[in-house]
Parts: sequence; structure tokens; C-alpha cells
Amino acid sequence: MNKIIVKAGNVTFGGDNPIVVQTMCNTPTQDIDASFEQCMRLSKAGAQLIRLTTQGMKEVAALKIIKERLRDAGIETPLSADVHFTSDVAIAAAEVADKVRINPGNFARDHETAREQFRRLTEVCRERNCAIRIGVNHGSLGERIIDKYGDSPLGMKESALEWINMAQEFNFDQIIVSLKASNTRVMTDAYRLLYKEFESMGVAYPLHLGVTEAGNGESGRIKSAVGLATLLSDGIGDTIRVSLTEDPQKEIPVASYIASYFSDRKRNFIIPNIYRKGSDPAVIEASYSEPDWQSFILRAACDLGPLMLDNIADDVTLKVTIGGSAAKDEDISRFRDELLQASRRKFTKPEYIACPGCGRTLFDLETVFEEVKKRTSHLKGYNIAVMGCVVNGPGEMADADYGYVGEGRNKVSIYRGKTPVYRSVPQDEAIDKLLSLIEEDARNKVFRPRLG
Ligand code: SF4
Repeated sequence: MNKIIVKAGNVTFGGDNPIVVQTMCNTPTQDIDASFEQCMRLSKAGAQLIRLTTQGMKEVAALKIIKERLRDAGIETPLSADVHFTSDVAIAAAEVADKVRINPGNFARDHETAREQFRRLTEVCRERNCAIRIGVNHGSLGERIIDKYGDSPLGMKESALEWINMAQEFNFDQIIVSLKASNTRVMTDAYRLLYKEFESMGVAYPLHLGVTEAGNGESGRIKSAVGLATLLSDGIGDTIRVSLTEDPQKEIPVASYIASYFSDRKRNFIIPNIYRKGSDPAVIEASYSEPDWQSFILRAACDLGPLMLDNIADDVTLKVTIGGSAAKDEDISRFRDELLQASRRKFTKPEYIACPGCGRTLFDLETVFEEVKKRTSHLKGYNIAVMGCVVNGPGEMADADYGYVGEGRNKVSIYRGKTPVYRSVPQDEAIDKLLSLIEEDARNKVFRPRLG
């Protein structure tokens, strides 16, 4: 297979090149000082590419200054412009950035305009040695694709393929493709479908892997590790981002661990004893001895997650030693519950979808998300989203039953599925409003919790 190598600034993606670790600023790009400082910190922490929200021409201008200041400070980390909705902005951003991320689902109003604007974008990118990420997301596919294939892994694959074909037609090969979803099953199915297509085309473009809106803490780390490991152990994936609703600096050690664990891009875990009695579930027996808890959860999620997600095993019994002492039973049991939920095998608590926040977020997402989790922890079987903005949030919370979506400064919209039920709710009343909507719906049987 012809493996296409893509360059963005000083970083090379694809083929046998190492897996690239990337992240995204959560500062408003127009706040040049804050974004510059965050880029400095992220770069020093090990980010090999940094993406910044670039929603308009003012952000393109700010991005230019941030890049110049970084280069003056001796930081060569490539910058990627994250563009949604405005193809002219993508074309302008290509004059400045090392890579431009576009979302086929919202690049332009209609397909003909999208095609023409994409052609213009590839011309600028060719001229400037700028790469393009075709960033398809479950939940923000274009209407035409949804009508034909549904909001499904197949639809995601077909959407990416359409843009890959256009890039080929325009003789532009510096593209990286992502097919992200917050549901690990949807995400892994989509990438596998596309990779199969690459095999039949005889050409593979670099793939950017990510579980979107993975949340925070142990759940976010385990969910990300399960999705990424399932693909990396198949040899699929060239660059990764772990999306956590936390300071983006905290994403880097998690992504670096996963990238180095799969540096040879194959399953490096010997499948342990899996025992099954009659029709009982197939249970893995595994032992770990790790220096700290964080290494344990990442390593075990990388090893066991793919087996769970691919239905090779149904459950796990674990012996765990951390720093020479046996881990507590309650910690092991919490990890097991998280692993089973991340692998979509057993749901013991609500499923949360929380975006990592970016320059479009106008509230303290991390604190609000923690509060929502605390107040909704009894809602097992529900899928609850906390999203930073109304621009992309509603589209990206594809699987959510209910959503808390930032609408502007101190204003929140409360969603049932994709429908806003309450708009412009003051932020200090928003969680109460979300809970009262859920309770009212349960009373009126408008909605029943679903699993899976
Ligand atoms: S949903 Fe979150 S991460 Fe996505 S654009 Fe909005 S604030 Fe940024």
C-alpha cells in the first residue's frame, strides 16, 4: 500500500513515522498573550502540534501574531487552525498556519460551493506547504450524507472519502483524516471502514485518531485509551489527541503514554487466560504491577479495552500492585466499571459527553462539568452532554439524551436530544433546569433511558 507522508511544519505524519501527539488550546485565540503562553507550556510539555480555534478573520490575524511570537521564542511547534462553517476563513488561515482543520459537514452551504472552495484551499495549501485535516465528526455530518447513509460509521467513512476523492482530483495529497466520535464503538468502526477502503484503493493517508468529548478524570483517560488502543493495536493511526475537559497540558502525558505504548503499532499484550464456564461471560484474568495508578489505568485500558470492545472478552478479574503494594479492592472495582463502560459492555453510571473546551468556551467548563456529574450521578442509562458552545456543541453531542450547552457569557441552553428546550437560562439556574427537564420527561414518559 502506498502510504502518503504528510508534513506540517517540522512534523511528519504517516508511513513508519512515530505517532504524533497533539493537543488544542482552550484559550480564546484573540487573547494573544494567553494563547501564546499556553502554546509555550503545551510545547514544553511535549505537544508536537497545537491547534487553535480560528472561527473568523480576527482569529486568523491573531494566529499569525501568536505564531511569530512562538518562532521568535525559538518554539517551532506547528500550529493548526481549527475552522468550522466559513470556508473563506480556512483559505485565509492556510496563509498563516501549518495545517488547517476543516469539517466537511459545515465547510460550505452546498456541495458545489464546498467543492470550489476546497479547490481554492488546496491551491493555497500547495503554495504554502500547509497540510489539511479533513475532520469528520459523528454528529456533524452534512445533511446529504445523513440522508444517504445515516449518522453512522458508514456515513462518516463516506463523508471522508468524498473529500479524499476531491483532494485526489485536485492533485493534493497533504491531507490527514479524522473520524471522531465520543462513542468508542462508532469511532473504531468508522476508522476501520475507512482503513479497509484505503486497502482497496492501495493508498493510505495519515489518520488522526481521537475519542471526542471523552470527559475528564479516570473516565476520560480510560475511554480515550480504549478507543485509541483498539485502533493502534490494529496498526491504524498516525497522530492522536486525547480530548479531556481539563487543562490541555494534562492531555499530553496521557497521549504520550499511549503513543509510546503503541510505538510499534501492534498489540504488544499477550492475551491472558480467558475463562468461560458454559454460557457464562468470558472473563480475562490479568495481573499488573505498576509504579503508579495512572500508569496502571492507562496500561490496563490499552491492553484490555480492545478485547472488551471487540467482544473477545466480557469481563475481567484483576490483581494489581502499585508501587509494590496491593491496590485497594474498591479502586480495582471502580477501574473495572470504567473499563466496561468505556468498552460499551456494561453501564453502571450515566454516560457523559463533555467537550474539552476551546477558544469558543465562555464559562468554566471544568467546574460546571464536575457539578453536572455530581448532580446527575444517579441517572444511570442516560447520556448527558456538557458542551462549551452552541456553535459546535449541539452538532457534536451526537449521542446525548440531554445537553447543557454554553450559549454566551452566563447563558446556557438546555437540550433534549438535538432540540433546545430552554434558551438563555442564567448559568446559576441551568443545572436545576436540566434536572427538572429530565425529571419531568421521566414523569411524562417522554423519554426513557437507553443503554448502549
Ligand atoms: S463544542 Fe466545545 S470544543 Fe467544540 S467548538 Fe464548542 S467549545 Fe470548542
